[in-house]
Amino acid sequence: MSPTTAFDPRAYVPAPAELAGRVVAITGASDGIGRAVAIACAQHQAQVILIGRNEKKLEEVHMTIAATSAPEATIAVLNLETALARDYDAVADAIEERYGRLDGLLHNAALLGTLTPIEHYDMATWCRVLHVNVTAAFALTQVLLPALRKSADASVVFTASSVGRHARAYWGAYAVSKFALEGLSQVLGDELEGTSHVRVNTLNPGRARTAMRRSAYPAEDIETVPLPSSLTDPYIALLGPASHGVTGQAFDAQPLSRPGADASSARSSS
Ligand code: NDP
Repeated sequence: MSPTTAFDPRAYVPAPAELAGRVVAITGASDGIGRAVAIACAQHQAQVILIGRNEKKLEEVHMTIAATSAPEATIAVLNLETALARDYDAVADAIEERYGRLDGLLHNAALLGTLTPIEHYDMATWCRVLHVNVTAAFALTQVLLPALRKSADASVVFTASSVGRHARAYWGAYAVSKFALEGLSQVLGDELEGTSHVRVNTLNPGRARTAMRRSAYPAEDIETVPLPSSLTDPYIALLGPASHGVTGQAFDAQPLSRPGADASSARSSS
């Protein structure tokens, strides 16, 4: 593991062409934070691969990017709940064929599940959440590692949550899945350090105005929650050359000083 670094993605202001020449894949690119980060990466000149389960929504993001001077994005339809080995292989093959390498991989897609005490947590929901949030991220990383290894400077980012760093009652499978991602990130980062040019970190976006946030906090005044588009710079810092050499770390995209600054740091108001 790397020694503690002063690198802080919250303080980073990317240059307009920060990601020029880089190929970046993002899961859950159809909505919320993933959509915003995909558009921002393209605006910073990355060639973005939009991964998601809803082709129509991905096409809308593709069209939004195409309407700018950004490099053309591509779409990879992959339902992380139902995908089989051959579906993961098809995505990896398509990336290898079109780009020959991968410079950035953001694991952003996730399910919230339900806010329920462990004592009453539904087993099927538990399995779905752990599968989409953790097992699918493992499977996608595994098939994309050959392409990541072909990059001179690759970055894998797992999306964290504060309840996956300090547990909180009722967050159930979601919290456990985020703890697991911290573990996956550390294990993978340790394995790849010194043997590859692939770095691995986690990033907690903090509270963001998305469908997931609305589900978790239905009584919250959503207008007070930052828009995903205001949180994209830290993602670019971690996916781009600014974080070269930084690995095995856990980062936040927003200051956590004030109560509720993290998306999942307050109790559900439902
Ligand atoms: P959203 O619910 O708005 O977006 C989730 C994304 O994941 C959507 O693109 C969704 O696709 C996709 N997704 C869900 N299930 C699958 C699946 N089976 N296969 C493929 N894609 C799937 O959530 P956010 O944008 O809020 O969350 C993004 C990340 O940020 C998550 O990892 C979340 O845990 C994390 N986070 C969010 C916080 C917040 O305040 N919003 C706080 C802390 C962490 P579709 O459009 O088809 O539904």
